[in-house]
Parts: sequence; structure tokens; C-alpha cells
Amino acid sequence: MTVSLSKRVQKVKPSPTLAMTARAAKLKAEGKDIIGLAAGEPDFDTPAHIADSGVEAIRKGITRYTAVDGTAELKDAIIAKFKRDNGLTFERNQILVSSGAKQTCFNLCAAVLDPGDECLIPAPYWVSYPDMALLADATPVIINGGAEQGYKITAAQLAAAITPRSKLFILNSPSNPTGAAYTAAELRALGAVLAQHPQVVIAADEMYEHIYWGPEPLMSFAQANQHLFDRTVTINGVSKAYAMTGWRIGYCGGPKEIVAAMSTVQGQSTSNASSISQRAATVALNGDQTCVAEMNKAFKERHDFVVAALNAIPGIKCLRGAGTFYAFADVSQAMRALGMKDDNAFAEYLLTEAGVAVVPGSGFGAPAHMRISFACSMKTLQDAVGRIERALRAAEARRTA
Ligand code: PLP
Repeated sequence: MTVSLSKRVQKVKPSPTLAMTARAAKLKAEGKDIIGLAAGEPDFDTPAHIADSGVEAIRKGITRYTAVDGTAELKDAIIAKFKRDNGLTFERNQILVSSGAKQTCFNLCAAVLDPGDECLIPAPYWVSYPDMALLADATPVIINGGAEQGYKITAAQLAAAITPRSKLFILNSPSNPTGAAYTAAELRALGAVLAQHPQVVIAADEMYEHIYWGPEPLMSFAQANQHLFDRTVTINGVSKAYAMTGWRIGYCGGPKEIVAAMSTVQGQSTSNASSISQRAATVALNGDQTCVAEMNKAFKERHDFVVAALNAIPGIKCLRGAGTFYAFADVSQAMRALGMKDDNAFAEYLLTEAGVAVVPGSGFGAPAHMRISFACSMKTLQDAVGRIERALRAAEARRTA
């Protein structure tokens, strides 16, 4: 091809989670027996009352463009949700509805980052943050929260990473990929550092707030740091809490100037999120929340099983998470014992030898790890962990033979 692609797009890479999910799907289609533990979505169906409201929306002709920033009824449902769950008060002009929280994050990067700006990202991170910063021509600055600190960064690390060019700080709690959640005290400690740097906008990605079993009540960043409310954008969505990944509805509440700028980005790219999905999301947020608690209970049971089972495999160490449906395991010892050069080789081995698709940790800024999604039945999980153990023991036996 003679046409050159933009420098911007050449800096970014496709999402490793989507890549592994696609690779597992391809092998499955070829007839291979593959258990996919790479995808980041609940295995449950969208609860019936929510799904029905979508069908009804189509029948009722709710099939037209809406306001770019979302319907009034959904915005009101979001305002009520923020009040109910997080003690946060927003007006309609502080809310933006997007086609998934992924778009919310992208809009925010496009709205606040300039070339040369720095975007502070704690690692392990959700795969998309650094690339979104790069797409906005900014520089991702990674702050490492290792296993020894529970995969969370400290206030001192944040203070050391901030420079006059720091513009955006993205905090994801509970975290994809580690399941770690910041306590109220930890959020306040980070907030105290950010208070010294008024140029920094805070993105609090709280997508997994309803998949949580930590010892203390989960707190929203802005709730713990009221003094930073005017520069915090709180991001959430219905994908994970209500098993609605395919409906593509994410949202945020934040300062009206930033939200208006994000809306402008969206207005010139995709316009409104699906009118049908907006109706279903309204029903999800306003309706009976029993389904959320039921799914949370199932995820917690699977978490307890999978963390214990992984820790029983020689060479794998997995910390307990406080939420989400991911287990993030340190596989460095297993890799070394088997002579594998990196976590990509390790994941490839599990895919081809064990028939289990996991995501290598390097995609999350944490080499020598793997992420397992336990959004699947207990039976599938048991099968998958058994396969991993057998494949690793077989490799070990081959090496020592
Ligand atoms: N934020 C985090 C941390 C995520 O893990 C995801 C999805 O994987 C998203 C945001 C975006 O979710 P969606 O675009 O489905 O709303």
C-alpha cells in the first residue's frame, strides 16, 4: 500500500483481550476444544425485565436519534443512581451517556489531553487507557503497583509521578485486571496528593462497583474526596453490573464544562448511544436491583474457588481480589521453571497445550502475569484449572525427563 497511516494510529496496538478472545473463537470454530477465559464480560443473560424493555422500546418506536448526551429519562436514572449508590449529586448538564464506558473514557481523553500532556495510569491497568492517551497525542505515565502492595499504588508514588505536565489521572477501582479495590483511606490519601495539583483532572472508573465483596463498604473516589468533586469525572456503565455488554451503554458524571466538551467529541463522532439501549439502561438503573446481588454472589463463589485452585498449582501465585470477575496471577515461577521467555509464550502454551485462553499480563502493564476471567460456570472453571495444572505438570515432566 502506498498510503501511509497516521503516526497517531501507528502508536497504538489492538486490545490484547479482544485479540485473545478472537483467537480462541477462531480455534473453536476450527473444531478445537478451547475454554475461553479471556473475555471481559459476564456469562449471565441480561435480566429478563431489562431485555423485555428493549424489545418493547423497538415495538413502541423508540428507534430514533436522541439528544447526543442521552435521553432525559436515562440521565435522571443516572442522577438517581449516583445519589443512591455514591452520595453524589449531579444536574442533567453534568451527565453524558455514551456507547459503552469505553467511549466515555475515549471522549474524556480527547476532551482534556493535548500533545505533550501526561496521563497518569496506575499499573496493572485496563488495557485501553494507555492507548487512549496515545490516541489523544498525550504521554502515558505508568505508576507501578506491584503484588507486594496489593496491586495498588501509594500516595507517595503518585506524588513522585506528578509533574506540571500531568493532566489526567485514571483510577480504576475495583480494578480490571487485578480485582483490587482502594479503601476509603487510600482514596483520601491519593486525593490529598491531587489537591496539591489543581491542573489534574481525575477519571474515576468505577465500572465494577457492583461486583465487590471487600471487607469495608466500597467508596466512590469523588465521595471520599468531596474537595475534588469539581475536577473528577466518575465513570460507570451497565455492561458489567447488569450483564449488558452488547447493549453498549456507559455514562459519566462530572464538571459541566468537561462533560460538555466530551459531548462535543461524541457529537462529531458517533452521536447518541442506541435509543433502544438507553431505554433498557433506564429500566436497569431504576428497576429491582436483586439481579445485581445475585450475580455478585455467583462471582464471589467462583472467585474463592479459582483463587484457591490457582494457588494450589506449583509456580502460580494469585492474590485474592475484592471484586470484578478476574483473577490476576503471578506466573513468573512457573514461566522460569518451564523455560518460557515471557507471559505471551506462557499464554500461548496454555492455549495450544491446555486449550485454555487467558490474557498475558504484559497487556495490562504487568509482565509475568496472566488474567483469568471467571465469568463462566463453576464446571467450566474447574475444567479449565484442571487443564492448566495438567499442562504445566506435563511441561515440567518433559523438562526434567
Ligand atoms: N472500564 C473498565 C475498567 C473495563 O474493564 C471496561 C470493559 O472491559 C470498560 C471500562 C468499558 O466497558 P463498556 O465499554 O462495555 O461499558
